[in-house]
Amino acid sequence: MTPVLRRVVVGVLDTNCWVLHADGDRRALVVDPGDDAPAIAAAVTDLDVVAIVLTHAHFDHVLAAPELAARWQVPVLAHPGDAPVWPDELDVVRRTGFWDAGTATDDLLATTPDRLLPPAGPLWDGRSTPVADGEVLEVGQLRVEVLHTPGHSPGGISLLVGEHVLTGDTLFPGGPGLTGTRLSDFPTIIRSVRRLFELPGGTRVHPGHGADTSIGTERPHLREWVVRGW
Ligand SMILES: [Zn+2]
Ligand SMILES: [Zn+2]
Repeated sequence: MTPVLRRVVVGVLDTNCWVLHADGDRRALVVDPGDDAPAIAAAVTDLDVVAIVLTHAHFDHVLAAPELAARWQVPVLAHPGDAPVWPDELDVVRRTGFWDAGTATDDLLATTPDRLLPPAGPLWDGRSTPVADGEVLEVGQLRVEVLHTPGHSPGGISLLVGEHVLTGDTLFPGGPGLTGTRLSDFPTIIRSVRRLFELPGGTRVHPGHGADTSIGTERPHLREWVVRGW
């Protein structure tokens, strides 16, 4: 069954919110509803969303989850390893008044600080339905395999469906996601990337921000990334 992917770019960090369904089937997953619930809802009016999945619990991947979960009456699925991450995100907001946007924070605070303010609406309560490594989510006729790919965060997951993998902030064109900050770890993300690189070279990689790539395009660069250390 052919998977169909739709991308909705949302929020201050241009997060890729992915909609995933089988061709000819209305049942769909929404992955990483990071902001802008109206835009995401508008992108799925012809579909029946059965669940929301979080690749990880950073604010830029979850902000619209509570509103959309309530609207669609669907569960929010996440890996339990990320349980400390959302409380940590909230702690940063309490201490500083702003979301931590990683390496983009200083630029954003200098240019458009209001975009790093927490939204007026309700915040996620952090509750999720746990998913485990190797678990298969059946979405209509699609089989979506959960791969635990920690490192950017302890409970980061990738979602493998046919010849496509949604990598969240674990793998991008040009390298792994950000580490060196709270709850992240570079050797761990490299182990996760090595695991993703066992997939066939033609596998399309759909990251949590920016452009798509493929396993075969990125795989030859692993050594450079390990040597540079990020
Ligand atoms: Zn992240
Ligand atoms: Zn992100």
